[in-house]
Amino acid sequence: MKRRRRLKGSTPRERIMLNHKKVNGCWMWQGWTRPDGYGMLAFGSGRPSYAHRIAYTELVGPIPPGLTVDHLCRNKSCVNPAHLEVVTRAVNTSRASKGLDRRRGTNGQFLAA
Ligand SMILES: [Zn+2]
Repeated sequence: MKRRRRLKGSTPRERIMLNHKKVNGCWMWQGWTRPDGYGMLAFGSGRPSYAHRIAYTELVGPIPPGLTVDHLCRNKSCVNPAHLEVVTRAVNTSRASKGLDRRRGTNGQFLAA
């Protein structure tokens, strides 16, 4: 059984740029996605990382310690750096609890981390 798709590219940046599909401005991750919706990316035998965190690091800059990368578009598998914002965990959680997911509606899909 094939569990993970073979990804194009070798560097982290290439992997992000070559393995997404643009949908309504979002860069939807085409690789491995966790059951909770987050795109994941692993290198060699290393531990997998969140694809959106790698996208932010590669295309925007380093993520300050203790901060989390939030999806402004609420698509957890989106890796478009323009849709990513570094926030504190408190901000991320309060946004989630206010149900700012207008496009999809507040149907309980979004779970606070
Ligand atoms: Zn997006």
